[in-house]
This record gives sequence, structure tokens and C-alpha cells, in this order.
Amino acid sequence: MESGLSAMKGGSGLDGAIAAVSFMEESGLFNCGRGACLTAEGKVELDAAVMTGRGLAGAGVGDVTCTYHPVSLAKWVMENTEHVLVVGERCRDYARLAGLKVEMLEPSPEASRRFAVLKEQKHFASSVSLVRRLDPAGTVGAVAVGSDEVPAAAVSTGGRWMKLPGRVGDSAILGSGIFADSRLGAACATGTGEEIIRVALSMRACEFMSRGDAQTAASRAIGYISKARGRDTAGIITVDLKGRVGASYNTQAMGRAWFDHERGKVVARV
Ligand code: ASP
Repeated sequence: MESGLSAMKGGSGLDGAIAAVSFMEESGLFNCGRGACLTAEGKVELDAAVMTGRGLAGAGVGDVTCTYHPVSLAKWVMENTEHVLVVGERCRDYARLAGLKVEMLEPSPEASRRFAVLKEQKHFASSVSLVRRLDPAGTVGAVAVGSDEVPAAAVSTGGRWMKLPGRVGDSAILGSGIFADSRLGAACATGTGEEIIRVALSMRACEFMSRGDAQTAASRAIGYISKARGRDTAGIITVDLKGRVGASYNTQAMGRAWFDHERGKVVARV
């Protein structure tokens, strides 16, 4: 949170969101970067995306196996190509061009331990509730509006535990895991990627901000996915153009933190 806030001093919400996500990728404490969950073959495959409301610019990367910082790779794709989604082996070349450290991604000791438990129990593409019990710290995302008044979002994940190798989830896909629109606000989702993609959850949350604040939009988006696809499917964070934040989820818990302007400090909730 602090790294995001300090990166926003230049005025850009996008810089703040990316710095916050990048810090969490490096920490190894979440299901992203160094702490990512594993595929059914016990490998690390990462997804991430960035998006800014200015011109709907953004990009996602999927099935990344060459850098612990896929969010920085997504930023590079957004800034240096015309594409909005790049996946797989060739990400290695782009990571090099982006100046990122390219390396073999190793499962963390904690992830290897959880993998052994899930394999033993023969869980594949496990349900959100089971995985949250085993691994309460999930996908990471951030939304922000800087002094430039442009809403932005960034997200990064290892995806779902025991996913099929090559599977790409919502976190790589604009409109699903992430969305930002300078007329509305920004949103970022977590949960079962397949369900989030089916209802284009983050774009839906932003559309709801045309008729309500960030919290109303977050609640409506989660109400929508609960009705359409059931409970225990998703959580979402939102920010509207006035910088108000919102969060809602239909899972057991969702850790979140934000800067409270009235109290002048960071507040966290689980
Ligand atoms: N949404 C992520 C995915 O399905 C997982 C998560 O948020 O925990 O890839």
C-alpha cells in the first residue's frame, strides 16, 4: 500500500496501482509472483494485466513462466504494442525487451507443501472455498485515481490451484479481471476466473458506476454474479471518479486496504 501511495506522488493512478501490485508479487505472501499457486503439473504459470481509463489503454499477459513480475510485462505490452493480450512461451522475448529479469520460476516452499496436499486429495482446478481454506491470500489487484484524475487498475495472479497447464484466467483479460474507463472508474476482480470471464465482471462493475458510487457498483456487480453463477465465485474492488472506493465479495473473505482520506491513513480489512 505504502509503495503504491509513494509511486502516486507523480500524479498517476496507474503508476500507483502497478507499484502496489509489483510489491506484492515480490513479497511471496500472495497468490502471485514469488508466492504463486501451482498448476496440476506443479508448475508456476502467471497471469496479469494493467489498464488505464485514458483511451481504454491496457494489456494482459497469460501463462507467463519467465518473470515473477508479469504486471510489469503487461505494462510493457500496453506501452509498446498494439495488442491487448500476449500469452505463453514468447513472453520470454518480450520480458527481455522490457528489461525484466528473466528466470526459471520455482514454486515457493509453501506452494510445494500445498500442492502435495491437493495432489494427495486429487483436487484439480479446485473450488474457491477449498483453496481459500488452504491458501487464504489470493490474487492481488489495485485500483486508483491519481491527481491526473484518470482511473486505473492492475492485477496479478498465479490463477487457480491445480489448473490445467496453459489455462489463462480472468486476470489477463480486460473487461473481466480488470477494467478502467475515464467516464466511469476502475475495477479489479478475484475469484473463479472462468465465472468472472463469463459475466465480464470488472466491466460490469464500471458500468454500474454510471448510476452509483464505487461501493454501490461493487455490491451490484457481486449481486449480479451471485445470481448468474452462484455464490463463492468472486470479489471485486472499485474506485469511482471522485476517488471513493468500494469492495464486495460472495466468498468467505477478501483482504483489502485503502487510503482513508478523512482519517489520513491506510485502513485494512479482511
Ligand atoms: N481470478 C483468478 C483466476 O481465476 C484466481 C483468484 O482470483 O484467486 O485466475
